[in-house]
Amino acid sequence: SAPLSIVRGAGQAAERGILMRTGEAFQGFRLVRRIILDKTGTLTEGRPTVREVETAGGSEAELLAIAAAVEASSEHPLAQAVVKAAFERGVTPPEVASFQAFPGQGVVAQIGRGEAIVGSPRFLTDRAVDLSLLQKRMEILEAAGRTVIAVANEGRALGIVALGDTLRPDAIEAVASLRKSGLSTILVTGDNERAAQRVGREVGVDEVHAGILPQRKAAIVRELQADARVAMVGDGINDAPALMQADIGIAMGGGTDIAIEAADIIILSNRLGALPEAREISRRSYRKMV
Ligand code: ADP
Ligand code: MG
Repeated sequence: SAPLSIVRGAGQAAERGILMRTGEAFQGFRLVRRIILDKTGTLTEGRPTVREVETAGGSEAELLAIAAAVEASSEHPLAQAVVKAAFERGVTPPEVASFQAFPGQGVVAQIGRGEAIVGSPRFLTDRAVDLSLLQKRMEILEAAGRTVIAVANEGRALGIVALGDTLRPDAIEAVASLRKSGLSTILVTGDNERAAQRVGREVGVDEVHAGILPQRKAAIVRELQADARVAMVGDGINDAPALMQADIGIAMGGGTDIAIEAADIIILSNRLGALPEAREISRRSYRKMV
């Protein structure tokens, strides 16, 4: 049976909405020196909304109709926001014949005879869509912290959709508390560099890695493990490999099932303040054990 200190620790954790799930959670978290934080859905609420729509010359309705048609097949929070915005503006999306989602990049769908693409600007330019006329506006929106996605139909850019998300209320305080206890804090995200840097500055993390594809997240954890124990905090399907790779994987309670299954600790309350608290519980449980 579990040592009494761990039973007590588990109770203290539960009172704070923290589920310490494995022995590692108690024994290992106190030894962690680096903590990696996902941006969307972890440092932020993860409920983006459409804030700006900029067309490449055509109508906003056409742009939103194509975007919503493609995104209707995706479960990504960005996709849900686009579908909602189109619905609210009374736009009816055309029918989609087939689609393929590319995690961390975007979605490609067949509409009529043509192919439509919605995703990160890099995803579209990689697929030979020319976004040069929208470049300046994308940069301004990204610098303002927006996640910018681009929309193309039959190889032609229709425009961009800028989405905004809000920081969790205790994000700044939680990062400060983790840093004060000697942890180095690293933001890792699939989102664009400018928006990531802006959020990174706002919450005060030590390092920012942006534009990271899901499989790279786990590789970054591995690299940071070379000389220290690493914890990873995330919420999405795209975080699951990194959560498994980390010494301590921590999932937000509102996250996807796959992330939750991959984690040692689950923050049921979705409070980021639970991170320093869980570390303190790990320290105390161990002290009483020896
Ligand atoms: P994060 O690390 O912020 O949780 P993801 O790895 O899920 O983000 O996605 C990274 C980027 O890929 C997004 O910022 C967006 O540009 C693009 N992307 C991913 N999925 C979609 C989608 N369904 N529709 C549009 N863009 C997407
Ligand atoms: Mg996320």
